[in-house]
Amino acid sequence: MSNLEKYKWDAYNCIRCSYCKWVDGIWIQSQRRSKICPISAKHYFDVYSGQGMMDFVYGKLYDNQVDYSPRLLDALYKCTLCGACDTMCKRNLDLEVIETIEELKAQAYEDGKGPPEEIKAQIEGIKNQGNPWNKSRAEWDTWSKDLKIKDLNKEKADILYFVGCKTPYEPELQKVAKDVVNILNKAGVDFGILGQNEVCCGQPSYRAGDREVTAKIAAQNIETFNKLGVSKVVVSCADCYGMFKGRYPAYGKPNYEILHVVELIDQLIKENKLKITKKLDMKVTYHDPCFLGRRGEGYIFWEGTHGKWGLHEPAKQFNKGTYGIYEPPRSILNSLGVELIEMERARENAWCCGAGAAGGTEVAFKDFANWTAGERLDEAEATGADTLVTCCPFCEYIFKEAVKTNSYRIQIVDLVELVSQAI
Ligand code: SF4
Ligand code: SF4
Repeated sequence: MSNLEKYKWDAYNCIRCSYCKWVDGIWIQSQRRSKICPISAKHYFDVYSGQGMMDFVYGKLYDNQVDYSPRLLDALYKCTLCGACDTMCKRNLDLEVIETIEELKAQAYEDGKGPPEEIKAQIEGIKNQGNPWNKSRAEWDTWSKDLKIKDLNKEKADILYFVGCKTPYEPELQKVAKDVVNILNKAGVDFGILGQNEVCCGQPSYRAGDREVTAKIAAQNIETFNKLGVSKVVVSCADCYGMFKGRYPAYGKPNYEILHVVELIDQLIKENKLKITKKLDMKVTYHDPCFLGRRGEGYIFWEGTHGKWGLHEPAKQFNKGTYGIYEPPRSILNSLGVELIEMERARENAWCCGAGAAGGTEVAFKDFANWTAGERLDEAEATGADTLVTCCPFCEYIFKEAVKTNSYRIQIVDLVELVSQAI
């Protein structure tokens, strides 16, 4: 059931300031980089923004004065759910912009207005095969053959490495899973995988607005993880992280901790359990995945020019969590000895990669996703770095797709690839 009604107050109180479309000038040197909402930057038409969708919700909830227009639906499904609008609004009025957009997707789903066919196919894939690509389960673990990994269907371990749906089925991304295994083995971590019994985290169905499929898959996963008796579930995908951490508590009671692998690696390095034996001579820049940063757990606000970062009181009140995962990847890069050059839009000001939550934007609006990724690659190259580092398979994938259609000189890697080279 959609909870759109819950956000009536927010829609009513939106003052149409457009803050959700731009990064405030105190953060950004160049006008060129002040855009923050991909759909707004591409279309320059009001409904293509957090503000425009809040306006629509306002009209819909007050006497049903508007109906879904083709442009509203185009904006709604192109929206990557990057959460930048929400973070920008939190510095201003603290409205629940992203929650409102997500509930609008659920409402549109209930009203039979969407999602596009390509996204519907993702939901069918989850129902039929446990993954949004409708790929055979037998193909899931080809990457893990010949590797030393415990099978948690047969034996116990302290940690479950949840690989996620994107990495195993993309030959170019399988390296990420192999590198995670290499790192955890080198650090002597007691871990295992579920192999062909792993099913999608439910992010694709959630972002598509299908609450029924999401509830079923989330409850099933929580039960499976609890039964394994693991102390931690470790992921290498930002979307799985956002789903497990931010959404699962509504569907069950997890008896385990959720960590993104960069958090675990950072801990292992600091505890001297993972030794960096080789320094890497590279100039890199780091892309903060939305679901690991500003959408990871909490929403951050700025207390003023001389203030400090903190959680807004309402965010605490609604248990929106803590800070995003900004420091661990940077701390790891520091340990690797690389030169890190930040992009203008970094951390909570980061420009989205364009893939959209669980690749929903990429599957339905490929050109738009490539354009969004291209904007980021352009910004990354402007730093003078030779390598763009990220730690989400969806980001890595769409950046590599954008490179196929335009020429960029920068190479794209997952952080675990660099760690694996240095240990
Ligand atoms: S920043 Fe917030 S208040 Fe301003 S237009 Fe956007 S949603 Fe409305
Ligand atoms: S979630 Fe991202 S793409 Fe969607 S309206 Fe907000 S800023 Fe724009």
